[in-house]
Amino acid sequence: PEAPVRTDVAIVGAGPVGLFAVFECGMLKMHCHVIDTLEVPGGQCAALYPEKPIYDIPGYPRVGAGELIEQLLEQAAPFEPVYHMDQRVEKLERVGEWWRLTTTRDTVVEAKAIIMAAGVGAFGPNRPPLENIQAYEGKSVFYYVTKPEDFRDRSVVIAGGGDSALDWSILLAEIARKVYVVHRRPKFRGAPDSVAKLQALAGAGQVELVIPYQLHRLEGRDGELEAVVVRDFDGGEKALEADRLLPFFGLSMDLGPIRDWGLDLDRQTLTVDPFTCETNLPGIHAIGDIASYRNKLKLILTGFSEAATAAHAIYPRVHPGEELHWEYSTTKGVPGRA
Ligand code: FAD
Repeated sequence: PEAPVRTDVAIVGAGPVGLFAVFECGMLKMHCHVIDTLEVPGGQCAALYPEKPIYDIPGYPRVGAGELIEQLLEQAAPFEPVYHMDQRVEKLERVGEWWRLTTTRDTVVEAKAIIMAAGVGAFGPNRPPLENIQAYEGKSVFYYVTKPEDFRDRSVVIAGGGDSALDWSILLAEIARKVYVVHRRPKFRGAPDSVAKLQALAGAGQVELVIPYQLHRLEGRDGELEAVVVRDFDGGEKALEADRLLPFFGLSMDLGPIRDWGLDLDRQTLTVDPFTCETNLPGIHAIGDIASYRNKLKLILTGFSEAATAAHAIYPRVHPGEELHWEYSTTKGVPGRA
């Protein structure tokens, strides 16, 4: 593990509620580090419904989920949070006065208090059960497309039947040398308009539909893919010559390691005192979807309010003996805002 970085508050989860907690802590002069499994901030809003409008955010009659995340990032930015993305928090330990978090990338963050804003758990792509796939991940097998240009002139196998598979097949058909779409059913689950577009591209020979087939084996060396072997339901195999594979089999959510940290659980949630959002462990607070108490409403709105409650409850831990001179968020409170 790397040398620990120290901060006032470590936030587990960069969903809407974790992001707003950065702002609320910042207003009370507490600096934050934020850790998330996903590559980009936004939690469920970014991963599950970036294009969907939300109608119940105060002051916004209608806002796209992706846009809401952008606004929250901008609101938090003056407080200079440090984001550690693409890594899951695996371990929580008490080290003297500090709470220490360790991630799957060996990042170690020590903080005076922890805010668990981990939603429904860590999101991760569903990995197809292919032998040795880990060796190819990040080199020639990807679960997200960040830069479509990386696929220029590549021979790409896209697997799956949902919107991600459809959207990327359509987009990459223009860039890649070859696009195979492997799906195990004749019917796609995505938007009818996208299905029609894909069929048209297939008709024009711009993509090749490999249906009904399932991924069976990867061939290549040193993480560089050479072929994807697919299989039909009668055991018939064929090898698709390809140097990239994009499996789109959805995301799964898993509370995972959080279960083993000694926190009181109520099924998939952490039990908190609603007046402080503190869990059974002193200095560990939980907010947003992961926090539960009687009559809890699982809404972004509720999570925002819990972020403020937790920040105020944490303040005396970070600034012991200092009386809280509460101010409203006039321009005075927010750095760089005039
Ligand atoms: P999340 O958004 O779930 O974010 C939690 C983050 O924590 C995730 O990014 C996850 O990867 C990360 N994480 C978890 N465990 C770890 C770990 N161990 N290490 C590192 N990172 C971890 N709510 C509304 O108020 N209005 C709506 O209109 C609305 N529409 C919705 C529509 C859909 C389709 C869905 C699915 C939900 C909707 N919701 C809506 C609910 C809303 O999205 C959630 O209440 C909200 O996302 C909760 O925010 P959060 O920050 O608590 O958690």
